[in-house]
Amino acid sequence: MIWKPERLAGWGNHPSQLCRVARPERLRELRELSVAPGGTLAWRGLGRSYGDASLNAGDGVVLLGRLNRFREFDPSTGLLECEAGASLADIIACFLPRGFFPPVTPGTRAVTVGGAVACDVHGKNHHRDGAFSAHVSELTLLTVGGQLLRCSRREHPDVFWATVGGMGLTGCIVTVRLALQRVSSAFLTVVQRRTADLQQTMQQLATLDAEHRYTVAWVDGMAGGRSLGRAVVSGADHASGAPAGRGPLSPPAHRRGTVPFPAPNWFLSPTMVRGFGALRYHRSADGARYLADFDAFFYPLDSLAHWNRLYGRRGFLQYQFVLPEATALEGMTRVLETLHRAGHPPFLAVLKRLGAAGEGLLSFPRAGYTLALDLPVGPPELFALLRRLDEEVAFRGGRVYLAKDARLAPDLFRAMYPQLPAFLALKERLDPDGRLATSLSRRLGITA
Ligand SMILES: Cc1cc2nc3c(=O)[nH]c(=O)nc-3n(C[C@H](O)[C@H](O)[C@H](O)COP(=O)(O)OP(=O)(O)OC[C@H]3O[C@@H](n4cnc5c(N)ncnc54)[C@H](O)[C@@H]3O)c2cc1C
Repeated sequence: MIWKPERLAGWGNHPSQLCRVARPERLRELRELSVAPGGTLAWRGLGRSYGDASLNAGDGVVLLGRLNRFREFDPSTGLLECEAGASLADIIACFLPRGFFPPVTPGTRAVTVGGAVACDVHGKNHHRDGAFSAHVSELTLLTVGGQLLRCSRREHPDVFWATVGGMGLTGCIVTVRLALQRVSSAFLTVVQRRTADLQQTMQQLATLDAEHRYTVAWVDGMAGGRSLGRAVVSGADHASGAPAGRGPLSPPAHRRGTVPFPAPNWFLSPTMVRGFGALRYHRSADGARYLADFDAFFYPLDSLAHWNRLYGRRGFLQYQFVLPEATALEGMTRVLETLHRAGHPPFLAVLKRLGAAGEGLLSFPRAGYTLALDLPVGPPELFALLRRLDEEVAFRGGRVYLAKDARLAPDLFRAMYPQLPAFLALKERLDPDGRLATSLSRRLGITA
């Protein structure tokens, strides 16, 4: 296999690092790469983690997008076995017309199944359906020794729970058995509420959670003072039909725009973004009920390709953390107020309510509220400020999401992820020479 130098970045375009990349097309090639001596190895799906989770500065990154075949599908159960480089977009394109949809989806469909397992991603239905791993019955893991391990809740369960949410550090996920959910429509029935502040937003999410499969709050990140945390909160369920004249299972044909190059730094000024945030909030009618196609509901950001370029060459950070129910209101108020006071109001802010934690040793979701905030990379004091916010989050029993992270420090990471010692013991067993590493794992002290 040929390694080529390539500068890589996550979705936030920060950091951007020179790595060596290889792009296997067959399992045999992947195996050769994983057993060949020399250097460390990282895996990369579609690079939709925001920070440095799929980077390996100066060293090897294996691009897995071509190992994306569907291997087996049982229409009577919805059980799909696919290679881990298959994306949710591939799955939707093939299986939605047959009446199946991913059981859990993040806010973009441009993620691979392997990336979804490695980050144990959550969707807008975590309160009902848990994280991605809850729907994975089995996976095969290629270890650095070249062994293919079949892992499930019964076979090698310790490896299974370290791999789920394990950020690619136990081996390469090669195939996954995933239970798709049956749907009878590509549309969702949506109800919408407008709230006045953060407390109301949280209350609305809790109320809508009891009634709906999917819930999410798009917070007006620029609103401060008494309006801090005001939002448009939606609850949704798969519909049984479609608008007149539309086939219920035919995916909508949207025209997608694109951002062709990184925007200049002045482009996303706070004034401009305040305008967008306020517009979205005021344009959404309280109590509205409507049918939305799955694209518009699940993936509104996918409608503009490369929208991350709007943040310019310096890129942006997504600060996503979860806090338990008991400390969430106070903690999130503190985080938002601190950012506003320091002149860094979030450009995009999404709040969700999560259900009980799964068993993944490094999985992010746990019961409580999770807030995701987009912040342009700019002045250096932002990083010091976020360190202070990390301390607040850890103190209140929460944690930062590694799939979004580019800057957390090792001491706070250890405080936030109490099952790290068990994970490290298992990694040592599977990878005694420390060949699997990423820029994130080195930064957090998971690997040397
Ligand atoms: C617009 C947007 C919205 C998002 N919304 C959400 C959301 O709602 N919920 C949520 O949980 N996440 C969300 N994410 C994050 C995203 O779902 C995760 O980062 C996901 O892991 C990206 O998949 P990927 O294939 O791009 O993985 P990459 O970013 O390429 O890799 C992510 C990690 O997985 C590892 N990995 C990838 N493939 C494999 C493999 N086959 N074997 C072993 N390890 C592997 C990599 O080494 C890396 O550590 C969002 C991201 C974007 C850009």
